[in-house]
Amino acid sequence: KELPADSMQENTRRQVENACFSYVLPKKTAKPELLHVSPEMLENLGFSKEDAQSEEFLKVFTGNAVLHNTQPYAMCYGGHQFGNWAGQLGDGRAINLAEVEHNNNHWALQLKGAGETPYSRTADGLAVLRSSIREYLCSEAMYHLGVPTTRALSLALSGDAVLRDVMYNGNPEYEKGAIVCRVAPSFLRFGNYEIFAARQDFKTLKTLVDYTIKHFFNHLGKPSKETYLAFFGEVSQRTLEMIIHWQRVGFVHGVMNTDNMSILGLTIDYGPYGWLEGFDFGWTPNTTDRQHKRYRFGNQPNIGLWNLYKLANALYPLIEETEALERILDEYKLDFETKSLAMMRSKLGLEVEDAFDVSLVQELEDNLMLTETDMTIFFRKLSDFKIEKPSEGLEIVKEAFYISTEIVEEIQQKWETWFQRYADRLGQEQTASEERKENMNSVNPKYVLRNYMAQLAIEDADKGDYKLIDELFQMLKKPYEEQPEHGKWFAKRPDWARHKVGCSM
Ligand code: AMP
Ligand code: MG
Ligand code: MG
Repeated sequence: KELPADSMQENTRRQVENACFSYVLPKKTAKPELLHVSPEMLENLGFSKEDAQSEEFLKVFTGNAVLHNTQPYAMCYGGHQFGNWAGQLGDGRAINLAEVEHNNNHWALQLKGAGETPYSRTADGLAVLRSSIREYLCSEAMYHLGVPTTRALSLALSGDAVLRDVMYNGNPEYEKGAIVCRVAPSFLRFGNYEIFAARQDFKTLKTLVDYTIKHFFNHLGKPSKETYLAFFGEVSQRTLEMIIHWQRVGFVHGVMNTDNMSILGLTIDYGPYGWLEGFDFGWTPNTTDRQHKRYRFGNQPNIGLWNLYKLANALYPLIEETEALERILDEYKLDFETKSLAMMRSKLGLEVEDAFDVSLVQELEDNLMLTETDMTIFFRKLSDFKIEKPSEGLEIVKEAFYISTEIVEEIQQKWETWFQRYADRLGQEQTASEERKENMNSVNPKYVLRNYMAQLAIEDADKGDYKLIDELFQMLKKPYEEQPEHGKWFAKRPDWARHKVGCSM
């Protein structure tokens, strides 16, 4: 209620001026059916298992009923998409239902795919089962991996058919409609601030920034130029931390437009994301970005910085201190170097700091790209490396290589050189090998949501079989544990899945 709202109360598409959000109503669905509910999120929100089985729960989380005393709304935001200012975007298919306070935590509940809003532009406001399964499974998996992220409470079928232009055959087809209820302290994005700066509506900009600080960065103090700068500094740090986690687990977001950058530093908008299989800085899962590869794995940290420049521009009218803003942006670059190196050290089980670690890591990354090498399997297996037997290194990680024939001698040589170097380097460490193994296994996951795994769950679900959704959901809650019963998911991507990556719409 503290933010300016759009005076109209309907879902028709329009440019919304001088307002941060518009009141809307979710669309009623034909035959809603809950497919999965996250027990962890139920608990966080103070719901019981029985609540989740009630008729009311089904109705509310599929848009068929609005909770008493609440007023759903869609937010107004803009954004830079693939490097260009795109004007008003906004919650085109997301509707905020309500906010919940429980155990001193504050959560906003948002339906994704619950129908058109003023911000739907030319699209339908709906989501399909395919993309909803991907968002539901991946956001909860990321949480359990320790990556800052929006969460998911529920996954439901709407019972409605949704028309989609499926990328791989070019013909529009009807698909099953679905709705995810996603949850986060706030869904505010960089684009929420950019839109008011772009419109030179500095009054609303200030209202929104003050609101954000009061509710989510209260420790920074009362509104002032210094507080705004500190706010930008913290957003910058959180963004960097998030991206370093992505690099650690091999997550490629795929659409790092500024409208998909959370002001809280949470991973948001699980669209065309993908997981690295072969370690490759040049890889992107986004088929619409295959030419420039703007959002490729290795470019994520740079894009984070690029996006922060856009946020700095948006906040500038409230701060008016170019140098101070630039200092924060320069710090991002420096912090990136040190934090990224620290992250790689942790993946290698190194605690001591050595001046040559940069080149040790560099040489490893070069080797990983010599032939297609599965990132997850490589780092997980590396914890079995024996310092006194460097010549067995290649044998230990061999499961990670995608080539079916023997590795050529030249490449073998490079690996042997690296393993020898790694063994020498481990010699400087104080930690016993068992402890090192444990440390490494706590940062190098054994199980991630490989693209083909989500694909299999989607294919089954399309036929009405939801068991695999639950199996993956359960397994991905403990990504760092051994889980021998799930051993078949600790394996390279099968050949048929080589070029298949899910897409976003
Ligand atoms: P994205 O590429 O997912 O970040 O979306 C960019 C913009 O398009 C956002 O404003 C979304 O709300 C909007 N959008 C994406 N899909 C749909 C859809 N099916 N209906 C309406 N708006 C959409
Ligand atoms: Mg988005
Ligand atoms: Mg999206």
